[in-house]
Amino acid sequence: MAPIDDNSVDPPRQHVTVAVVLPVYETFSYSVPAHLSDQARPGMRVLVPFGRRTVTGYLIGPDRQTDSREIKQILDVLDDSPLFPETMIPFFQWIASYYMHPPGLVVNTALPAGLNMTDIAVLTIDENGIQALASSSTGPVEKSILAALSEGPASIKQLQKKIGRPVPWALIHRMRQRKWLLLDRRIEGGRIRPKTIRMVALEKSENFSRRLSRQRRAICDILKAEGDLSVPALKKRIPTAATLVRGMQKAGQVAVYEKTISRDPFGDPIEPDTTPRLTGEQTRAVRQMAPLLGRGFKTVLLAGVTGSGKTEVYLRLTRAAISKKMQVLVLVPEIGLISQTERRFRARFGERVAVLHSGLSRGERYDQWLRIVKEEAAIAIGARSCIFAPFTDVGLIIVDEEHDSSYKQETGLRYNARDLAVVRGRHHKALVILGSATPSVQSWHNVTIGKYDLATLSKRINRQPLPEIRTVDLSLSRDERGIQRYITPQLQKEIRNTLDEGNQALIFLNRRGFSAFPICAHCGQALRCKNCDISLTLHKKANAFRCHYCGFTKAATSACPSCGSEDIKLLGMGTEKVQEAMVQLFPDARVARMDRDTMNRKGAIVRLLKDLKHRRIDILVGTQMVAKGHDFPGITLVGVVCADLTLNFPDFRSGERTFQLLAQVAGRAGRGEHPGKVVLQTFNPDHFTIGAAKNQDFKKFFDQEISFRKALAYPPFSRMVAVRISGKDPQKTAEMAGKIGTNGRRMLANAGPGGSRVKLMGPIEAPLARIANRHRWQLLISSPDVAGLHRLVHELMQGPNSVATGRDIRVSVDVDPFFLM
Ligand code: ADP
Ligand code: ZN
Ligand code: ZN
Repeated sequence: MAPIDDNSVDPPRQHVTVAVVLPVYETFSYSVPAHLSDQARPGMRVLVPFGRRTVTGYLIGPDRQTDSREIKQILDVLDDSPLFPETMIPFFQWIASYYMHPPGLVVNTALPAGLNMTDIAVLTIDENGIQALASSSTGPVEKSILAALSEGPASIKQLQKKIGRPVPWALIHRMRQRKWLLLDRRIEGGRIRPKTIRMVALEKSENFSRRLSRQRRAICDILKAEGDLSVPALKKRIPTAATLVRGMQKAGQVAVYEKTISRDPFGDPIEPDTTPRLTGEQTRAVRQMAPLLGRGFKTVLLAGVTGSGKTEVYLRLTRAAISKKMQVLVLVPEIGLISQTERRFRARFGERVAVLHSGLSRGERYDQWLRIVKEEAAIAIGARSCIFAPFTDVGLIIVDEEHDSSYKQETGLRYNARDLAVVRGRHHKALVILGSATPSVQSWHNVTIGKYDLATLSKRINRQPLPEIRTVDLSLSRDERGIQRYITPQLQKEIRNTLDEGNQALIFLNRRGFSAFPICAHCGQALRCKNCDISLTLHKKANAFRCHYCGFTKAATSACPSCGSEDIKLLGMGTEKVQEAMVQLFPDARVARMDRDTMNRKGAIVRLLKDLKHRRIDILVGTQMVAKGHDFPGITLVGVVCADLTLNFPDFRSGERTFQLLAQVAGRAGRGEHPGKVVLQTFNPDHFTIGAAKNQDFKKFFDQEISFRKALAYPPFSRMVAVRISGKDPQKTAEMAGKIGTNGRRMLANAGPGGSRVKLMGPIEAPLARIANRHRWQLLISSPDVAGLHRLVHELMQGPNSVATGRDIRVSVDVDPFFLM
């Protein structure tokens, strides 16, 4: 090897690969000038010339090509430490290629917002800086910077203004390394301040005299049996614990120390929990999965009925993983609030958990991100985007409620975090656990073909029975008038009984508003949105008709647009009407509503859940918001007003979604001591989806559903890509859709035998043909052969013969689309 300190030899020019933050599909090579060479590392942002512009990019690795073509130089390095580990780069590259998304934008999606150092950095002069300012060997630019900072701290923008010239980041970083200046990040929102709680621990036995008072003895016994406990926890058992503990502390019998804890959105501390004994089924599940840790990539589907204790299994596996020094990712569905699962992870693992979800402020997210990068946390828990948590070496990935549609991002990079969990698991050779009471058809199919292992929990904890479900045939009440038609006598009777027993009822209808189908009594015209191809919904409280797709609003007093009649009939019901019906039918009950209309203000959801928990609500009316994750022991009755709403959507997954929604909402009943009951009203009591949901029997559902998917070659028997074309001009949009379709068919014809398995459907007008004044078309491309499918879509969208789209028309690619509306 050449001696390192040989100054006579020019160091070899270093080339790196950069993904620019622009909608371009390639990455580019740049050279690193000597003065930046010890700073530029993969995972950092760099400033590069691109065409005639200067843009930001991510340094994603060395470039091993050594060809001598003229390569441009990096202008600046924007970070002092990497924002993500190098081990994530292959993952980003996989995503860019699979989802056909520009690599720079993939990385951008993965990183939390608010990382822009130019906005957040504050510079202060440091100890050595004062000497450097006086020294004659300090350069003029450095000197002017130090002089400016000696008058007080400044942001980078203020500094540039003061000295009248741009300040390169590379220079700042060098000055920092020499301790000439300090860099602080100031972001709005700030850090999550650690909260502490007083913990009590038993001291050594020599300090105990025989004559311990009965109450002190009781405290000793509790601590002996359960280990250290917080003062509030002790107070719950023994109301005078605080005073007793003080006395015992003086006597040297107990020690008191502060422990950092987190708080839940109710403001209550998340106290350390005690580990329960596992049930037989849980033990078997843990024994099946724990040995797989560190043994290479494996995916296990954990199918466990609602309330079977899946979370405790996750907690045990996580404990096993971190004791092997592994890092753990836990994904939970987005529910607009801290989930039960997140709370339990924080209770068990405290400060080893970092949280990443949309409820955090920008500053908090950034802080949590840094804690992961610096490996201060070993567990990251959060919604969809948590799949990008910047751990170097993940050993275990858990996806709770893996069927949940909130794992699919529907804008920008349209990824599915559940699928990416499996991909990231493969990259890290990790164990991946997908858990659900209602597994997706996709995941269960993977079990049946041997791709995933299966672990099951078939019984609820304490053997609470699953709720008893009765279906009520709505077609029999078709001739009823008024409330009776949708709130049938059977449902009313069950609600009455529930209230009389002092329990709570949950009434579910997956549609907001008062009337979802206003129609002119005179001419029969439906009131439609002027921007979308959809019926307006009357919102009584807001006193307006609203469009649920674009937000268009029209006064509730509006007349029929086609005949001018003011006689508008309000057909079709939403949660607002159900709430009104409840108030009328049960005037003594306290009724509340949980849907996007009532929950859009921050804090509203917290207040409502608190009221529910403390039994200040008797009847809760809600949309699918109530079906997710909440655990309310007082709810013994779930009423489903109309189970059919989602069943007949023109989307091949509508059966699957209906099954999952109904089974999940039914699973909310009877989580406490009292058994639960469900009244499920439907026009299709004999539909297999309804029947299967009734028994939480996903196998039965799957067996029927899978034969239909197979017959029509739908996923999981094929992969799909949706190409969506939208534009304001109906004619031009249709033409563009047609052109892309024709182009695709031509490419298919030329693709040879490999292309023969690719099927192209459409272009057709989307089922929702117009949203927010944009006309929508879609082209579905599918094939059992993923590689062939992706090759064609690549060629169609990015190849030399792809159709150039103008500015007026948007074309987006959705790989493995979820909603086909
Ligand atoms: P799931 O996620 O399968 O719906 P949970 O994990 O929420 O079920 O468990 C249901 C309830 O049972 C929770 O209140 C949980 O604290 C409790 N639980 C779980 N495992 C045990 C156990 N081994 N012993 C006692 N209680 C348990
Ligand atoms: Zn009319
Ligand atoms: Zn609209």
